[in-house]
Amino acid sequence: MDPEKELRFYRLYEQLASLTQVVNQKLDIPQIEALLNEISGMFRLSKGVTHFYRNPGDEMDGIGETMISYDTGKGGKAVHTVRFVTRLLSISTMTVYMTDDAEPLTEEELFKVDLTMRTALAFISRNRLQVMAEELAFYDDMGFRNIRSFFKYISWKGYKGGLDGTAALNYNMRHFSLINDEYGRECGDTVLKNHYKQVEKIIGEDGIAVRLGGDSFVCICSQSDLPELLEYLNEAVVLIDDSGRTARISNCVGVFNIPENYTVKFPNDIMGKVMYAFQLAKLGTYGNIVFYSDVLMSNKERSRKIQKLFPKALKNDEFRVFYQPKVDIDTGEICGAEALCRWFHDGRIIQPMEFIPVLEETNDICKLDFHMLDLVCYDIRRWLDEGRRVGRISVNLSRRHMIDPKLLDVLMNIIDKYNVPHEYIEIELTETTTDVEFKDLKRVVEALHQQNICTSVDDFGMGYSSLNLIRVVPWNVLKVDRIFLPLDGESEESTRSVMFKHVITMAKELGLECIVEGVETSGQLKLLRKNGCRLAQGYLFDKPLKVEEFEKRLDMVRYVI
Ligand code: C2E
Ligand code: MG
Ligand code: MG
Repeated sequence: MDPEKELRFYRLYEQLASLTQVVNQKLDIPQIEALLNEISGMFRLSKGVTHFYRNPGDEMDGIGETMISYDTGKGGKAVHTVRFVTRLLSISTMTVYMTDDAEPLTEEELFKVDLTMRTALAFISRNRLQVMAEELAFYDDMGFRNIRSFFKYISWKGYKGGLDGTAALNYNMRHFSLINDEYGRECGDTVLKNHYKQVEKIIGEDGIAVRLGGDSFVCICSQSDLPELLEYLNEAVVLIDDSGRTARISNCVGVFNIPENYTVKFPNDIMGKVMYAFQLAKLGTYGNIVFYSDVLMSNKERSRKIQKLFPKALKNDEFRVFYQPKVDIDTGEICGAEALCRWFHDGRIIQPMEFIPVLEETNDICKLDFHMLDLVCYDIRRWLDEGRRVGRISVNLSRRHMIDPKLLDVLMNIIDKYNVPHEYIEIELTETTTDVEFKDLKRVVEALHQQNICTSVDDFGMGYSSLNLIRVVPWNVLKVDRIFLPLDGESEESTRSVMFKHVITMAKELGLECIVEGVETSGQLKLLRKNGCRLAQGYLFDKPLKVEEFEKRLDMVRYVI
């Protein structure tokens, strides 16, 4: 080889070696290609082909990536191959070709070609492994980006205003398990993928959407795309399979509008906020979509305080039962009462609306409900022993109990511990928001029914009561919420008046006992009479009363109405 050519080769090779050793810097691929082209030309090569296989099996089956690094278009036959097997068993090969009319390589030339090929191949092999490692690290087995992608994105953007004008979301599909149940897992996967694709389309290149697992996702999008995204998440029609069948998907969503100049303090910072808003969205109290705000934050602190105080309060007997009478408006007699919880803490009474929703965030509510039932059964036993005329006492049970397989056993143990005849107990349950809970609710009501324990749909008319709930579950009592109760002087044609009339008629015709809650005025009482509803509960008769006060009412013959 002439010295000038030799010198030129080593210059090129040196450049190639330094370019391909670069770590953590942007690779200059065109430059590398240019060097390889020039070296190939120097050695009269006609073509250079590289293959990359993830594992030996793929190599045998010929499933891999093929890269043509140099091609004169003249064809030729293979003259030299280099093969690398990495410790992770990925395989890369490089073969160079020469045409028949080209002068064969000398031994010395072959050495130089081999050296160049090994350098290039080491680089390609490392590069492909890096891509493979990224796929494994940042995507899950279904091909969705994973939480590590999210944290990487946050650490890249999350300082010096990099997230200005964006919002973070955590969302979860409602009823997704029903899709799997009804159409099979494969269709479920298709729904997830199609839904995700559309979300990615809405949030565009600048945002990111990742799957936390199952049907739960987090994403970051620009605030200008937020309205469209929320509209989609609130209700979307998604393809189930290739045949064009669709499902209607709605999500519970927690949103955090990221403030200007926001700096992420720790990786879970944003996650904590959207997940908290999401938890509230799931509860349903604030609707399907909940925005995290400082108000929620102070709520969160209050919640934490209540959750911390609860165990001790339970032990110290700080929870008491108040009884609100239920009245037969034809006779004025007390026909029963609802047991309502009051918390005596630090010399003041805390109302249920302040602590029940907080306890409902965890299973603490279940402990409280059992405690209340215990106190109620204790009182009933005492009243019966004292020869008092006791009606049926209703106790509220949170929806949280529905998934507890031991619920019935625990309830019956408490009731039977005091030897309270079952007909003195009524369990009030509110409607449910998910179909899964619906099934559990039905199961619980049926089981109570068998034990001869009355059940009532509480707050009928609030939230999302469905007629199906009444049709499918064997309730005894319908408690009409005061939201349906017309105000004094309200016209008979108002929507509320019409609905009130028909709800009462429906309950009667279905053979359900019907009671109206929140009766405050004699005008409303007249309306109950007019519509044929015999039972009422409300401030017109009494507020929830301390036990001693309530006992006085039990001894009283009737309310004068
Ligand atoms: P709820 O079960 O619907 O109870 C009826 C609520 O309406 C009670 O509020 C009662 O004081 C109020 N009320 C009754 N009559 C009138 C009226 O004429 N006008 C007005 N404006 N309100 C009236 P309270 O005691 O504050 O309880 C609120 C909710 O907290 C209850 O609604 C129930 O869902 C829940 N709760 C109370 N105690 C318990 C409990 O021990 N366990 C569970 N899980 N929930 C409970
Ligand atoms: Mg109730
Ligand atoms: Mg109620």
